[in-house]
Amino acid sequence: MTEKYAACAIGIDLGTTYSCVGVWQEQQDRVEIIHNDQGNNTTPSFVAFTDKQRLIGEAAKNQAATNPDNTVFDAKRLIGRKFSDPIIQKDILLWPFKVIGDVNDKPMIVVSYKGQEKELSAEEISSMVLIKMKEIAEAFLEAPVKNAVVTVPAYFNDSQRKATKDAGAIAGLNVIRIINEPTAAAIAYGLENRTRCVGERNVFVFDLGGGTFDVSLVTIKDNVFEVKATSGNTHLGGEDFDNRMVEYLAREFKKKHKMDIKGNAKALRKLRKACERAKRTLSFAVDTTIEVDALFEGIDFSFPISRGRFEKINMDLFEECMETVERCLTDAKMKKSSVDDVVLIGGSSRIPKVQQLLQDFFNGMELCRSINPDEAVACGAAVQAALLSEGVKNVPKIALSDVTPLSLGIAEEGDLMSVVIPRNTTIPVKKTEEYVTIYDDQSSLLVEVYEGERSRASYNNLLGYFYLTGITPAPRGHPHDVCFAIDENGILTVSAKEKTNGNMNEITITNDTGRLSPEKIRRLIEEAENYKAEDMKFKKKVKVMKDMEDYLYDMKKLVTDKGVSSKLSTVDQVKINSAIVKGKILLGGDQQEDTFVFVNMLRELKSIFEPAMAKINNGWTNEESDND
Ligand code: ADP
Ligand code: MG
Repeated sequence: MTEKYAACAIGIDLGTTYSCVGVWQEQQDRVEIIHNDQGNNTTPSFVAFTDKQRLIGEAAKNQAATNPDNTVFDAKRLIGRKFSDPIIQKDILLWPFKVIGDVNDKPMIVVSYKGQEKELSAEEISSMVLIKMKEIAEAFLEAPVKNAVVTVPAYFNDSQRKATKDAGAIAGLNVIRIINEPTAAAIAYGLENRTRCVGERNVFVFDLGGGTFDVSLVTIKDNVFEVKATSGNTHLGGEDFDNRMVEYLAREFKKKHKMDIKGNAKALRKLRKACERAKRTLSFAVDTTIEVDALFEGIDFSFPISRGRFEKINMDLFEECMETVERCLTDAKMKKSSVDDVVLIGGSSRIPKVQQLLQDFFNGMELCRSINPDEAVACGAAVQAALLSEGVKNVPKIALSDVTPLSLGIAEEGDLMSVVIPRNTTIPVKKTEEYVTIYDDQSSLLVEVYEGERSRASYNNLLGYFYLTGITPAPRGHPHDVCFAIDENGILTVSAKEKTNGNMNEITITNDTGRLSPEKIRRLIEEAENYKAEDMKFKKKVKVMKDMEDYLYDMKKLVTDKGVSSKLSTVDQVKINSAIVKGKILLGGDQQEDTFVFVNMLRELKSIFEPAMAKINNGWTNEESDND
């Protein structure tokens, strides 16, 4: 047994509140979710420090109420973030343990361990949880484990993904791949429903956990899983529902006993524990009672709470979930009726109101509950891990694809964003567009690569730029190809190539540099929606300016052409030349004028140029026209 698994990597769902580990069992043709020493398939992502020892998992969570200052949880919320991040500042208010910012604005958790004060980063805390998961796997496999696939929320940015990888390294694990949690869940669903997955199916994955919320639209066709779109909220989950309950009950306690427990970490911790338990009960029962002995200053607290009350104090959060669901479908350009299955993942997806709202949203469709919401993510990670391990047999050949979160393109003349790869395109992808030079005899050009949804390139995020030089002298409009290629790791390479002489230059942009955080991405998409009207106006203006420039170019070309100019009357020549000067001054300015100014100028140019040209075309001579 030992040898068999020695090469196989494990899959770890490193959750905000609970973690889970699984491994592919080739003889049984399935994933084994490995239970911990307490016999549970999920392990709390908790680490505690005492005068004598460090505790991880169940042992840490069990002593949390008596040692709140030194029991650390939610490290995933901190990972890859700055201390000054407003989200972190808000979280700190709710945590019983102390968090400070170091000189680099990195959040550090302050605990007392063996009588000494210790500062720990979120990576270190997460690495301790990973060590626990590694040990759980090693106990089962009876062999050392080196390689692992670790999952993260779809909305984790690069820095958060990197920090998760670092946590693995600190734990002595080689993180061979980071995959998105909803993607992993879709793999688990595909495994369980292999017979149903004939033809093409659109699976909507709804993952409401303890600290994060992810939704994804995944299509499954012949064992190929394709993530069409993802959306989510890094700060929405069961803990938020717990916090709402804590706030509500603290208010009730204050009303009843005229005492505020808000500043007392121990009391809050006790109350939160009772609230979480009550919340779970309310998923099965319509009412329950919160009971905490000696909550504050020796007072026993007992308070009945109904499912209706729980729903009421969290309704706006539940509705927020549904908005995210809608956004994901809009992004995927998919009607709700085209969704074949809705898969529920994450402990909080058990909340009846959430299920009801989701079912209503999908017009009464039955939600799929056949897979275990706590284990699905680790299960998918284990399949991916086996696929990446050498010599593991019987693993279903499942291919995964990801999508680009934002549109990618280059800046065209007039600061217009020319999209080459639209948002939510499946990667890997390669696309080539033809562009032309804008000046006569242009010898070089600047290729600026942007990501974003605004029509104005400079309002988007500049990823990088390069020059294409040595262009063959030619009149403007000389073609060159710009090629965008994104590989399976999300690395973008942009190249430009002159068509005639094959001259080329390129730039590679990895997803590690200059890319935006998912929150920023969401904000940018929202902003772009709001600015749509403004952008349309801008686009119209750029178009008119471009038309005017083209017109001026043609005018200039014709009046400098001997064959034409010799036929023009002196009066017309003067009129045309001064109109060209006037037009150029307008274009050469800061271009702050309204669109109609350019429209009028173009009209004026045409009113001067067209009659003059008509005279030539009608065969009039200089003299005749001068006399008219
Ligand atoms: P994460 O992956 O974010 O750590 P999980 O998917 O393990 O989260 O879900 C944990 C959350 O689910 C916790 O907030 C827990 O209180 C909640 N939860 C678990 N079971 C239930 C239930 N029966 N009803 C409501 N919430 C539940
Ligand atoms: Mg989870």
